Amino acid sequence: MPPCSETSVLLLPMVERCITLLQTYGVSSLTKLRQIHAFSIRHGVSIADAEMGKHLIFYLVSLPSPPPMSYAHKVFSKIEKPINIFIWNTLIRGYAECDSNYSVSAVSLYREMKVSGLVEPDTHTYPFLLKAVTKMADVRLGETIHSVVIRSGFGSLIFAQNSLLHLYANCGDLSNAYKVFDKMPEKDLVAWNSVINGFVENGKPDEALALYTEMDSKGIKPDGFTIVSLLSACAKIGALTLGKRVHVYMIKVGLTRNLHSSNVLLDLYARCGRVEEARIVFDEMVDKNSVSWTSLIVGLAVNGFGKEAIELFRVMDSKEGLLPCEITFVGILYACSHCGMVKEGFEYFRRMREEYKIKPRIEHFGCMVDLLARAGQVKEAFEYIMKMPMQPNVVIWRTLLGACTVHGESDLAEYSRLQILQLEPNHSGDYVLLSNMYASEQRWSDVQKIRKQMLRDGVRKVPGHSLVEVGNRVHEFLMGDKSHPKSEEIYAKLKEMTDRLRLEGYVPQISNVYVDVEEEEKENALVYHSEKIAIAFMLISTPERSPVRVVKNLRVCGDCHSAIKLVSKVYNREIVVRDRSRFHHFKNGSCSCQDYW
Ligand code: ZN
Ligand code: ZN
Repeated sequence: MPPCSETSVLLLPMVERCITLLQTYGVSSLTKLRQIHAFSIRHGVSIADAEMGKHLIFYLVSLPSPPPMSYAHKVFSKIEKPINIFIWNTLIRGYAECDSNYSVSAVSLYREMKVSGLVEPDTHTYPFLLKAVTKMADVRLGETIHSVVIRSGFGSLIFAQNSLLHLYANCGDLSNAYKVFDKMPEKDLVAWNSVINGFVENGKPDEALALYTEMDSKGIKPDGFTIVSLLSACAKIGALTLGKRVHVYMIKVGLTRNLHSSNVLLDLYARCGRVEEARIVFDEMVDKNSVSWTSLIVGLAVNGFGKEAIELFRVMDSKEGLLPCEITFVGILYACSHCGMVKEGFEYFRRMREEYKIKPRIEHFGCMVDLLARAGQVKEAFEYIMKMPMQPNVVIWRTLLGACTVHGESDLAEYSRLQILQLEPNHSGDYVLLSNMYASEQRWSDVQKIRKQMLRDGVRKVPGHSLVEVGNRVHEFLMGDKSHPKSEEIYAKLKEMTDRLRLEGYVPQISNVYVDVEEEEKENALVYHSEKIAIAFMLISTPERSPVRVVKNLRVCGDCHSAIKLVSKVYNREIVVRDRSRFHHFKNGSCSCQDYW
């Protein structure tokens, strides 16, 4: 059949019109299209005709996801001479916008185009192609295509630079991402968003915030994407003041009505230990989905408001259309465990499986072990672990080890430690726990044995550091840190603190300092851990009675814990410490963790 018969000349505009009508009225029906297609074939409008094919493919690719790509490709392969670049681009776009399984088809179609020699790629081809490559997270292929882009003379176009930047950021290659970004003569909001988000996603929130400050100074206004990245960065390092500024900005531009950004904001407050603010954000949200409910439930639970978390779950449970997910139950079980509600915890665990058909994951079993262990039922916790349908992980053994040290179960403690050692040979925290337990039982030879073993196994500690925020700046302190410009004042305050705490009955637990090889200089028992230095700095830098928040990368030691409890009383300050595993809300001389962490 000739590509364009006489009938087809007459009918083509009509068929085109039909397809356009379908699009205009938003009728996205594959059946309707198949009817038109069949009609065209019957009346001699050849699908081999490029014009006809163009309309069909465009319609197919624009169908709601996932578009019928194999159908679209079949239409494409029937076209005798696809000399229209629009057809190629449409199909490449279709593949690029599907999930990553289709990305490779976009690349092979591009190769086919080059080989065919029928058309040359244009400015629309490369953005789609690079989008597909980004989904494949293939840096080398991306670089190859980028060099083609440059050779074709499109290198200076902002889309090409943005795509490459996005590719690097997406693959976690931050140094190359930043290089591309830095060289861009004109950085638009897309570029700023890619680079900021790249740093947030790859665990560099400080850099992300520094970039945001630069963006702000250039007068570039953030959009919803920037806001979400910024809030996540703030949540990671506990930069509450900046987070609050972002919040104010969100109110100004109406972004608080956006469900996704409000959820991230809620999460930020919860992670900074500001449950009241999280609650306000939650209450003011016009739409709430189960993510919002879950964030607040988990936020309440980990911040020591177990009863409130459970109450909130009861309300959520009674609302129609809101289904709890597995994370919601992590929050609930955590809450039960911290409130000592053993029976209720088991009941929720049962409901999760039977009522909500959620298959418990290892995190849920971990909560159950914690529930029993916290209630002092250490042996039952051990039996529970033995009956679990999966292999217990280090977190679970560590929970048991923690409980054993609190309840003086030496044999089980040693057993747990051996299990941990097998699973994670180079982790040092457990040596520390066990050696602290031996130290508290005055078993000095065992302490020595553990320490020797640590040296033999070459275990090195991550240095402990604490972050605090004053004004818009985050200050970082290491153990024994004297690098801060206000160091002298800080150490004077530390001395005063220790003196005042002693009057309240504080006795430094030398054993903790001595064997706590979490930090390095164990010889000097007077060296202060980073959280104490950070708190002293906050006492001299912030108004009286204002709350203090500290983010620490390691577990708080027993000595610091009892010191901070007294600081909260003596200096009348609420102190929130977020450590590696949980929140401690210190107030009036006690802590929300009830000395069990
Ligand atoms: Zn400490
Ligand atoms: Zn605590």
